[in-house]
Amino acid sequence: MIRTRYAPSPTGYMHIGNLRSALFSYLIAKHNNGKFILRIEDTNQNRYELGAEEFIYKVLDLFNLKYDEGPKNSGEYAPYVQSERLNLYKKYAEYLVKEDYAYYCFCSKSTLNKERMKAREEHKTYIYPGTCRNISSEEVKKRLSAGEKYVIRQKMPREGTTSFHDLIYGDVKVENKYLDDNILLKSDGYPTYNFANVLDDALMNITHVTRGNEYLASTPKYIHLYDALRYERPEFVHFPLVLKKDRTKISKRNQDDNLIDLLDNGFLPEAILNYVAFIGWSPKNNKEFFTLEELVKEFDILRISKKPGCYDIKKLKWYNRHYIRTMKEEDYLKFTQSFLEKSYDLKDKSKEWIRDLVLLYKNQISFGAEIVIITHMFFKKEYEFNKECANFLNSDLKILDIIKLFKEEIIGLEEWNREKIKLVFGRIKNTLGVDGKLLYLPIRILISGVKQGPDLIEMIYLLGKEDILRRINLGIYFK
Ligand code: GLU
Repeated sequence: MIRTRYAPSPTGYMHIGNLRSALFSYLIAKHNNGKFILRIEDTNQNRYELGAEEFIYKVLDLFNLKYDEGPKNSGEYAPYVQSERLNLYKKYAEYLVKEDYAYYCFCSKSTLNKERMKAREEHKTYIYPGTCRNISSEEVKKRLSAGEKYVIRQKMPREGTTSFHDLIYGDVKVENKYLDDNILLKSDGYPTYNFANVLDDALMNITHVTRGNEYLASTPKYIHLYDALRYERPEFVHFPLVLKKDRTKISKRNQDDNLIDLLDNGFLPEAILNYVAFIGWSPKNNKEFFTLEELVKEFDILRISKKPGCYDIKKLKWYNRHYIRTMKEEDYLKFTQSFLEKSYDLKDKSKEWIRDLVLLYKNQISFGAEIVIITHMFFKKEYEFNKECANFLNSDLKILDIIKLFKEEIIGLEEWNREKIKLVFGRIKNTLGVDGKLLYLPIRILISGVKQGPDLIEMIYLLGKEDILRRINLGIYFK
């Protein structure tokens, strides 16, 4: 039975890259009828960000990545939050000391800092020199009972090589002399990531360790821990980096990358999930749209790429537009109205009016909040023509006549409906002998301030007679 885990540290709010890790781990488990586990890695208490842990639960829930075991769905390997497992780390670290795979280190922070600075000055990579590796057990006892501060370090072999196989990156081999004696247990009693992660994966029976490739280089050290603890080595699956189109890294500070902003702006979970699956993975065929169930069926580890995956907000918008387009009308109305309500006063607007307005853009918007931007002209009272529009209005002498006649026709309309408005244009065409762009564009610019927009008749109808006349009066002196 395959067991994978998503093991986030609540040091920041989940972003697109984190979601991709969670999704891939989930898919690897579920494709093989395995179990997906959530483990919160909160051992770095200094970097704990308030709300980040709750957001992890919220996101997994929203994206339907149900975990079989985890903090809110306990199982036989509980607890699933590392800060609740501190006694375990201590116990196992002491066991490793006993077995000579680890040792107490009493070096002070200032000594280590000095050594580090010196290495930097000499342009060398700092590796702990092993000062405390061979302190006798009597001396260790003495110093411990004197209350000296200590950490526990992993004792790496100094000779030979270490190799392992990664399912994406293939065989990886390093010389042991480059492996640092990692700290396993810190002086505050908390384990480091390097230790807690390995121990928990082993204790929780994780068969496939799935995570970002920033951990690939440290994996040889973890191999030694598995061996020292006499646990079977798991399979390793390191996911390629996620980079943006401009080759920069994803950042939680950036609006386009962080999930809170994306969700707040009306990117749909189905669309985000569908797109994220394609960051560093591709299916056998050219199919582009997948539900989560379809991904579970199709997902094949061997089709994960080694090359960095590209996250492009434009492509995400493309996916989102597709999902908005295919929304049921009723859902779309609720969805868009929630954004309109936040920005505009809809008190005196009828249900039908709002429906007609938002439906006008159903095929066009690529995220929920865009409805606010795109319908702005229906709510604003004043606008200015940009230079290009102003130039156009002044480009032909007939334009003033078209506008004057349009105004008269509108005043004369007794019934306000789409057919009657259409007829107005027919009459202007006959009277002034104008058609096409010359007939329609001046009216469009005059009432909306811009050259492009939705269907003109629909737009005039929705704005209403009174507002159309107000707009013409505002703009009629454009000369
Ligand atoms: N806690 C690690 C992080 O958030 C996860 C690494 C892992 O999955 O092993 O970066």
